[in-house]
Amino acid sequence: MAGEAQADCLFCKIVAGEVPATLVRETETVVAFRDINPQAPTHVLVIPKAHYPDAAALAAKAPQVAADVLREAGEVAAEEKLDGTGYRIVFNTGAGAGQTVFHAHAHLLGGRGLEWPPG
Ligand code: 5GP
Ligand code: ZN
Repeated sequence: MAGEAQADCLFCKIVAGEVPATLVRETETVVAFRDINPQAPTHVLVIPKAHYPDAAALAAKAPQVAADVLREAGEVAAEEKLDGTGYRIVFNTGAGAGQTVFHAHAHLLGGRGLEWPPG
């Protein structure tokens, strides 16, 4: 069933509290926590509590939760005082684009200059 926790999913385990993480925000539907291998001074992962393999599946199956993820990413950016300098929200999708955890997640990156196009 769409959205059900997967036993072998690292981010489902973080949602369940079975794997520790440094949480920065939590709502009924979303959790945000610091990336274990930060690529910028602010690098926060914003994820739906329910399991969807990528952002497109999340948006197709649970559009309100997809909106929740984007809103929470904006809230984290505001809390980290990134609104003035700018920030980036990234959804790597597919192994070829660098996705390694197949539970939808937004990377919120900021606090340094961000090149375009990304590598
Ligand atoms: P992806 O490569 O799938 O777009 O992003 C997965 C992200 O999860 C990576 O940036 C990686 O550093 C992060 N990550 C992997 N394992 C853990 C973990 O156990 N805890 C936290 N907080 N982040 C993790
Ligand atoms: Zn999951």
